[in-house]
Amino acid sequence: MDSQTVGILGGGQLGRMIVEAAQRLNINTVILEEGEQAPAKQINALNKHVNGSFKDPNAIRELAKKCDIMTIEIEHVDTDSLKLIQKETGVKIYPDPDTIELIKDKYLQKKHLKKNEVAVTQSIAVENSISALEAVGDDFGFPFMLKSRTMAYDGRGNFVVKDKTSIKEALEFLKERPLYAEKWAPFTKEVAVMVVRSRDGNVYTYPTVETKHVNNICHTVYAPARVNDTIQKKAQLLAHNAVKSFSGAGIFGVEMFLLPNGELLVNEIAPRPHNSGHYTIDACVTSQFEAHIRAITGLPMPKNFTSLSTPQTHAIMLNVLGAQEANGELQLCKRALETVNASVYLYGKSTRPGRKMGHINIVSQSIEECERKLDYIEGRTDKIAQ
Ligand code: ATP
Ligand code: MG
Ligand code: MG
Repeated sequence: MDSQTVGILGGGQLGRMIVEAAQRLNINTVILEEGEQAPAKQINALNKHVNGSFKDPNAIRELAKKCDIMTIEIEHVDTDSLKLIQKETGVKIYPDPDTIELIKDKYLQKKHLKKNEVAVTQSIAVENSISALEAVGDDFGFPFMLKSRTMAYDGRGNFVVKDKTSIKEALEFLKERPLYAEKWAPFTKEVAVMVVRSRDGNVYTYPTVETKHVNNICHTVYAPARVNDTIQKKAQLLAHNAVKSFSGAGIFGVEMFLLPNGELLVNEIAPRPHNSGHYTIDACVTSQFEAHIRAITGLPMPKNFTSLSTPQTHAIMLNVLGAQEANGELQLCKRALETVNASVYLYGKSTRPGRKMGHINIVSQSIEECERKLDYIEGRTDKIAQ
């Protein structure tokens, strides 16, 4: 297995955890990222990484020289260069650059899913003008969501247009960005499914989980989701069909809205490991990171390798965000270290308020027990749950 080198565009926490999974299988990794001390580079000192931007064709070319397979940990990469380099060098790229190109523009992604009969939130491309947004309001009703088509994460490219009077502010907030509008989804829960696609096109789904956002950032993930079996399976099927519609191999995170009538709509897809899949490290037979490595290097993907470790396994993942006071978030980590069956993952980043610094996985036999442990970790009780 050590004959293949995987080059990763992006060196953040997702890259770091891909490296970790790859190293365990003796698979070499090389990282392309500007920061010399990027999280993914820190834990692989063996190789000479590339210091550069994953948007710079020359830097991508340099990475290609050092690997057999290229992958991404972020979708905002230069896909034109990827396509060219794939042709020129024969380096395999997973997921397929065509897939990354479709997904990184959230409007093109929606159009593609709709064409493939995958249920998605209703969307329309709009120009940056008051009259265009008034027309959307007349059509979709208020509130509606105005989104940047590209470069969006943690809700930073989104603006809730409450009524006609907030249109001006919305345009100001998202000025000079390519826009599209989405009909408001009055969801009761947000759910997500990790899906992995092998090089020969087989699709495997992880369990349906529930994601809870605070200030547009994922706060906790409950695995499995607290929904009935029908919804659990329906979400897996929707995610399966969504990923099946794209070419290439690798792991994908599928975010969905559960509506009051039980209907599910895809919110968006990430063509890479995803925050909602961090629970898999401790709660599933194979982590999302190892599944990705297996998929892109053509390693075996046996039956049930994406299942929860046991039918009784429950988990909660808590994101560790930078606290207001520097390193204040380490308090959470200390309490997690005191807790039975809680695991702490830190990403090696410098602290900043709201920054994703790490995550904590709590695993137990029931979700109630996981919640009791979470109460201790988050300081709502001083009674340690055993
Ligand atoms: P991520 O960090 O997940 O990539 P993002 O910046 O791409 O986030 P979205 O996933 O599009 O943003 O939206 C962020 C959150 O905003 C969603 O998880 C959901 O809570 C809310 N949201 C997004 N679209 C809608 C919608 N059409 N109707 C209602 N709420 C929405
Ligand atoms: Mg997104
Ligand atoms: Mg999202």
